[in-house]
Amino acid sequence: MQVSGGTDATVGIPPDVTEETEAFWTAASEGRLVVDQCDDCSAFSFPPRGMCRTCRSRSMRSVEVTGRGRIYSYTVNYQRWLPDLEVPYAIAIVEFPGCPGVRVVGRLRGCAPEEAAIDAEVEVGFEPGPGGYAIPSFVMLGPAP
Ligand SMILES: [Zn+2]
Repeated sequence: MQVSGGTDATVGIPPDVTEETEAFWTAASEGRLVVDQCDDCSAFSFPPRGMCRTCRSRSMRSVEVTGRGRIYSYTVNYQRWLPDLEVPYAIAIVEFPGCPGVRVVGRLRGCAPEEAAIDAEVEVGFEPGPGGYAIPSFVMLGPAP
């Protein structure tokens, strides 16, 4: 398996941090992926927006996502949207068995873009992103089952 290290995730637009997303970015800087969980109905929610998407409760807390994810879908980008952007690269939408209803988007690493596959297992990694923020990405662990 080829390990891609050539792409630089610092090229791009820094996140717009809000009151609702601050906990996410703080956790990311510590290498932890967090999503919201509702105190009232236990539903998971991402991205954070200070309100449960299931029951509209505003009693939400951040919980850490642990364990492997699974690629729900992906896309390979060949368009150089920014002058310094290295292409191609893969962006994956990842689900986590412990957090039903949550899908997180991030760059896929640890394989060539054309090796991306639906159902492949990934683990969460963080890499330096625009503006000094740690950006969640996913490291492919192997081919799809
Ligand atoms: Zn709820």
